Amino acid sequence: MFKLKFIASNEIDELAKKAGRTCGDCTLCCELLEVEELKIPARCKCPHEMKHGGCAIYQTRPSVCRDFACKWLVDPTFDEIWKPLISGLVIYFGEGDNMLAKEAPSTLNVHCRDKGAWLREPYYSKIKQWAIDGLNHNLDGELRKPEEQIYYKTIIHEEEKQFLVLNNQVEDITSSYYAMRYHYDDKTWSIQKFTKDEAENYAKGLTC
Ligand code: SF4
Ligand code: SF4
Repeated sequence: MFKLKFIASNEIDELAKKAGRTCGDCTLCCELLEVEELKIPARCKCPHEMKHGGCAIYQTRPSVCRDFACKWLVDPTFDEIWKPLISGLVIYFGEGDNMLAKEAPSTLNVHCRDKGAWLREPYYSKIKQWAIDGLNHNLDGELRKPEEQIYYKTIIHEEEKQFLVLNNQVEDITSSYYAMRYHYDDKTWSIQKFTKDEAENYAKGLTC
């Protein structure tokens, strides 16, 4: 059954222990993700990262750092090839970002250390498979009925760009407002892009 689950912050330590994983000298999420509490933008090095890896303020690190876990750390189905320092990918499941609120799905985020890291195998095939499975299933892991809301999307974060992975294509959605559409006749997906005003009206149901 397909199911990618949110991890609550109080589950992290136990799941990591069960998976036999620790961050060790990895600090890739610290380098690639925004750390709002410390006012560090995405892709900027945190001043607390130590020269040979690890966090200098580990015991007192902010809650945003404590509450984060990449999939490899807590999910044993992600084997060693997915270890962030090997794959160059930080993968986590979180809330939607720039999608219109009315379709608000969950997002599988893939942050890349290097350009094209996600296009290497076996990563690309697996990421595409997650995207397809996510679009075709509901949050209970059952096949999504046509009338049911879309709950998943898969976003690649590569340098300053973001890409949305659909089952048959990859769309550049950098700084875009958009909605995903499923075409029942040929079973394909597409996206419709909006300006900020159009997106606000669309979210309020004010479309013409
Ligand atoms: S990317 Fe994963 S393994 Fe690396 S420091 Fe972050 S949570 Fe730990
Ligand atoms: S405070 Fe520590 S855990 Fe948080 S981003 Fe900086 S180095 Fe990483």
